[in-house]
Amino acid sequence: MMMISKPNFKRAEQAAYTLLKQNHINQLPIKVKKLTRGFKNLRIITYSRFAEENNMTTDEVIVFAGSEEGCCYYRKSEHKYMILYNDLIQNEGRRRWTIAHEIGHYLLKHNEITNKTILSRSSLTQHEYKIFEQEADCFARSLLAPTSVLLALKKFNANDLSKWCSLSINASTNILKFFNKGIDLGRRLDPNDKLVKLFRDYIFKKNTEYQCLRCKVVFYRTSPSYCPVCRSKKISGRLGESHMIYEGYALDENGRANRCPKCDNEEIIEGEFCKVCGEFIINRCDNRYHDRDGDLIIECAQVADGNARYCFLCGHETTFFKNGLLQQWKIDYKDIKKSELRSELEALDEEVEIEIQEEKAERDRERTRASQVALRSWLDS
Ligand SMILES: [Zn+2]
Ligand SMILES: [Zn+2]
Ligand SMILES: [Zn+2]
Ligand SMILES: [Zn+2]
Repeated sequence: MMMISKPNFKRAEQAAYTLLKQNHINQLPIKVKKLTRGFKNLRIITYSRFAEENNMTTDEVIVFAGSEEGCCYYRKSEHKYMILYNDLIQNEGRRRWTIAHEIGHYLLKHNEITNKTILSRSSLTQHEYKIFEQEADCFARSLLAPTSVLLALKKFNANDLSKWCSLSINASTNILKFFNKGIDLGRRLDPNDKLVKLFRDYIFKKNTEYQCLRCKVVFYRTSPSYCPVCRSKKISGRLGESHMIYEGYALDENGRANRCPKCDNEEIIEGEFCKVCGEFIINRCDNRYHDRDGDLIIECAQVADGNARYCFLCGHETTFFKNGLLQQWKIDYKDIKKSELRSELEALDEEVEIEIQEEKAERDRERTRASQVALRSWLDS
């Protein structure tokens, strides 16, 4: 038997990163069960299902697994593994953590090292148990919230982590502590890290994601000063619960409309103007004026999004807005709110209608019952 003296965190972290890289994972949150599809000798099963298959109660499964959360079960004779996890735990983040933790035991071969069917407090020495748990936790953390990727993301708190990685607040708080400790110890972003490269688009998106606190639009820009829809300066790098979508024009990668926003002409290949109607086909900041000599001075010509009324840099109107191709944001806002209210009301109407029908059916049944009783007593008399 192998002697284990201390946890090998490097190995645990590398195992998690390798699994992510092998599966070409490029965004958070990690879909943890999907990662195990290639493991032919591993089955992942819920406590409920296991209970059903083995004629047990879920309480009995908890005793069998030696844990309320989950376990990694190893059948040596067939070299087969089974990960059981408690699906009755309401918190999805906790369930995700448990599965990742047990995959850690599986990939780090803890059962095989100690020749145990189930790793539990009772089957291992306290020392072994602690080391395996630490390694499996390190694996879970590296898998669900990879440090090398987190290092590339803009400032975040435990709440952000919980949302991005779909983890419990508790786990996210611990991860954040660990993360900050790593930075204190000198851990820095490695732009050449393979995982960072895989996550490049995700990182870019996350780092340029903003929401306006007034009109609630979500947009992607580097260091914006103004909301492109309503011109508010109250913008946050953190997304709130409700988002608003303001329709605009579809643009290509150069900011050119796919169709002319005015005459709908599709033959738009180059230039700033529609060949048919002469309209601007690029939504640009229109911060320009004529000086005393009549020369046109262009202060800013920043290319804007297809729904932008204002320049995110200088707050000046855009060409699409100025030329009446986009309406005042408040009109859109009102329309969206109205249609939201309308569908809420419709849903409520439907609910009430169902209740009325149910009540009516119940009353009918009662009436039938009452008349049957009346009939019987009349027959009996
Ligand atoms: Zn464990
Ligand atoms: Zn806004
Ligand atoms: Zn046109
Ligand atoms: Zn501008």
